[in-house]
Amino acid sequence: MSFKIPLFDLSYDEHEENEVVKTLKSKWISTGPKCQQLEKLFCESFDVNFALTVSSCTAALHLALMVLGVKKGDEVIVPSLTFAATANSVKYVGATPVFADVKSLTDLTIDPDDILRKVTNKTKVIIPMHFAGFAADMNSIMRIANQHNLKVVEDACHAPLSEYNEKKLGSIGDIGTFSFFSNKNMSTAEGGIMISNNEKYIQDARLLRSHGMTTMSYERAKGHATSYDIETLGYNYRLDDIRASLGIVQFKKLKKDLEKRREVRKWYIEGLKNINKIIIPFKDNTEFTSNYIFPIILKDSTAEYRDSVRNSLHQNGIQTSIHYPAVHRFTIYKNEYTPLTITDYIVSNEITLPMYGALTKQDVDYISNCLYEILN
Ligand SMILES: *Cc1c(COP(=O)(O)O)cnc(C)c1O
Repeated sequence: MSFKIPLFDLSYDEHEENEVVKTLKSKWISTGPKCQQLEKLFCESFDVNFALTVSSCTAALHLALMVLGVKKGDEVIVPSLTFAATANSVKYVGATPVFADVKSLTDLTIDPDDILRKVTNKTKVIIPMHFAGFAADMNSIMRIANQHNLKVVEDACHAPLSEYNEKKLGSIGDIGTFSFFSNKNMSTAEGGIMISNNEKYIQDARLLRSHGMTTMSYERAKGHATSYDIETLGYNYRLDDIRASLGIVQFKKLKKDLEKRREVRKWYIEGLKNINKIIIPFKDNTEFTSNYIFPIILKDSTAEYRDSVRNSLHQNGIQTSIHYPAVHRFTIYKNEYTPLTITDYIVSNEITLPMYGALTKQDVDYISNCLYEILN
């Protein structure tokens, strides 16, 4: 089915094309100067000392937990209302994900009170996820982490350039991770980056990113090094310069795109204000955010009703999605299952409406009116 209004639209133009062609013509297409340039842009923009491009955010999360020394027998507290990769990364290092609930139907980020209830002497790390680009309660989370000697990895996949108390999300915890997957705020098809102020974490991650090899092929090609050693078992988690050149263009366009999304969000809040059967999460947030997606939650609803509403929207040419199926209910997590009351309601009654910078006021009014008709 092709939709009149898709869920998401890639913001690509001739600038991305030109940069990719330039990189191709340079004949250096694997990890090299373009990856370094993208890392530099992130360091400057996020006001952090170190950044490392990787092949995905999943790789970044895996490396983050490795360099923090998380291993079998350890516990990592994660939300269930997230993409599965947040919790899967914990399994990669043999540790146990411990699921915490979110705060409320208006704040879909991990609940610090539930984190506190779930801290044990095995807990090593907390991974908050900034849902839709809105900040988790980082003040409380950092306080808990300090009190219990835990590390914090921010899954900031939804939140590039989102702000929180004059800082950028991803730069507050020990390590921040971002995704450049196709449908994210900035896209290189596949890709990601990790940022940190801790030099050792990024040095260790750099080794692990490329088989544990002590020098990179770009350095060897430039004559800066002739040989290498392998000190530790690593992976191939590198980004390449073709994707990095896409990332540089996308990152430079990002702020403008987010300003358009902020406008779209305002139109939605205005257009939906007469529908009292829905909750708009984070409605009163005043920080600058990425608005990665636009979630709504149906009040006094069931999964069957939610699915029927989605179906009616689809009949009207409006594509929707669900963020997310509950991770704690997936088969591979049956041993880690724990009831999560608020998350359980959200996963059955949330609908994600279209969100991207090129949406017009007419589009948003059309979506709002359709939803009004369907719900009344
Ligand atoms: C997309 C996403 C990931 C995974 O990112 P990849 O780059 O596809 O590996 C992890 N966590 C969240 C919250 C995401 O949205």
